[in-house]
Amino acid sequence: MKKLLILFLILGNFCLAGTISSVNEKGSKLSFLFSGSAKPAYQISYDSYNRLIFLEFPGSNMSTKLNDKNYTSKYVEDFSTVNYDGSVGFFIKLNKNISYSTSFSGNDFILSFNDKSGKKQYTIAIDAGHGGKDSGAVGYKKYYEKTIALSVAKYLRDELQKDFNVVMTRDSDVFVTLGNRPRIANKAKANMFVSVHVNSAIKNTLSGVEVFYFSKKSSPYAERIAAFENSVGDKYGEKTSNIVQIMGELAYKKNQEISIGFARKTSAALAKAMGMRDRGIHGANFAVLRGFNGPGVLVELGFINNNADIKKLTSPTAQKRMAQEIAKMVRENFY
Ligand SMILES: [Zn+2]
Repeated sequence: MKKLLILFLILGNFCLAGTISSVNEKGSKLSFLFSGSAKPAYQISYDSYNRLIFLEFPGSNMSTKLNDKNYTSKYVEDFSTVNYDGSVGFFIKLNKNISYSTSFSGNDFILSFNDKSGKKQYTIAIDAGHGGKDSGAVGYKKYYEKTIALSVAKYLRDELQKDFNVVMTRDSDVFVTLGNRPRIANKAKANMFVSVHVNSAIKNTLSGVEVFYFSKKSSPYAERIAAFENSVGDKYGEKTSNIVQIMGELAYKKNQEISIGFARKTSAALAKAMGMRDRGIHGANFAVLRGFNGPGVLVELGFINNNADIKKLTSPTAQKRMAQEIAKMVRENFY
């Protein structure tokens, strides 16, 4: 009696052998129909590498012979029945991006499939530079970096929302500290961080797009750009140099590698699509990228005080196109 009790415990609530009268495939469900007055015992295991379910009904038998070919579907790549030692088992190979769950309907055992391919797997953080009391760069005394950055960031959000979860560090004209921006992204478990900015230079002849990634070492030029973007922290009382370096050395290298590849492609794609100069990519110690636990870039879309660039930077059509190009590169990076 004690042994029997242990057996009951091991097999859970479903401890009885049964007879499978048929297996029905309908939509996302595979039903194993049992004749008898109790739920059958079952065991299930899943080999995720081979996407193979092994479903076993110990002590049960089949009352009919199944044609295994009838059970392949958009969810099931391969199905085969095995009879052994008075038990019956099934090898069910799932198609890609399919998950499964089990349940009972009366005494019938149900395998339900779920297509995960349409689900959004990744989260992208979009960071519109500056905002609120911090205008960023100003061009021709009337164009503000914060306004252009927000506008492109919103178009980028609209584009990326089709395939990704999106989190924005700001979606209105508000001030967000440099330290809080990556914090918002980390909290949302974002997989990538894209910061949108507009460049400025003393000489109005400078033009074009450039993309930055986080690097502990900077070239003198990249250092200057970083100093400007980082100055927000100093100006508004945030000691950005004190933000803890949270990325480990390994993660830093891995993230940097991804960021560099992404930065290069994005810079080239933007320049080509917008008919702008590709000024290339640079590594620099940006406070806004430093705190994020993943790959990230800072895009300088163009120069706010250059005549040709500002026309594009302020045109909604061009802003949308810029967003589309960045989104295209994000998509390429993940899919
Ligand atoms: Zn900026």
